[in-house]
Amino acid sequence: MIDIHAHLCFPPFDNDRERVVAECEREMRAVIVGSARYEEGLCALKLGERHRKMFVTLGYHPVEGGGNPGKLRELIRKNSDRIVGVGEVGLDYHWEKDESKRRRQREVFSEFIDLATELKKPLVIHSWDAEQECFDMVRDFEHGVVFHCFSGSGELSAEIIKNGFYVSVSTQILFSKNHRKLAKVLPLEHMLLETDSPFLSPYKYLRIKGEERLLKKGFDPEKNHPWNVRFSAQKIAEIKKVDISDVLTATTENAVRLFGLKV
Ligand SMILES: [Zn+2]
Repeated sequence: MIDIHAHLCFPPFDNDRERVVAECEREMRAVIVGSARYEEGLCALKLGERHRKMFVTLGYHPVEGGGNPGKLRELIRKNSDRIVGVGEVGLDYHWEKDESKRRRQREVFSEFIDLATELKKPLVIHSWDAEQECFDMVRDFEHGVVFHCFSGSGELSAEIIKNGFYVSVSTQILFSKNHRKLAKVLPLEHMLLETDSPFLSPYKYLRIKGEERLLKKGFDPEKNHPWNVRFSAQKIAEIKKVDISDVLTATTENAVRLFGLKV
């Protein structure tokens, strides 16, 4: 079981980060600690250094990155042998309506694409209401791409996988009909799993079904945790009428291949 995108360095984990990581080391094959800001990236690097199953991607959020993408690129360059990918990076037109700022997002994104090309690292893409444009910008990228928390159309996902890229299914699949529709048409060979922890907790969904007891005891149910990819895998198995072990095996192999994980 691999979670390819968890923000374990976000402040909500400040009071129990080590405990969460220890549990991940017990339960998971690997966790990719994603980041989108400078301080978060520093923390992620530390986790990656100290824990065998924690891997790191460094990135810059198109809206909330902190205003200094150059500093982030420097951090990536300096730590290129300690990261398994560049991201999250991308475009967010949902939170940015101003055309000149959107243009700036594209410039910044394109600089990170160039850097990932130079370092031969896969890209973890953040795209919100800008999926097609993100895809157009990375279409020719040769070192692997995953669209994290993908919410685009089925047609675009078909193009993405035709290009040999991956689509990451988050725990949103538990409470979103659209994401379930997407998972139905997405072949397992191009699928990855993620939680985007601490966001997108399955708690409310499980509570409605009276199944909140299935959550791991001793951890804040309002926060998402990497081991919750199990619930998504279960849902995907139901949708595709396959065994949950098929989903877990395929998504684990895909993550190992895309990020070159030594696990
Ligand atoms: Zn994220």
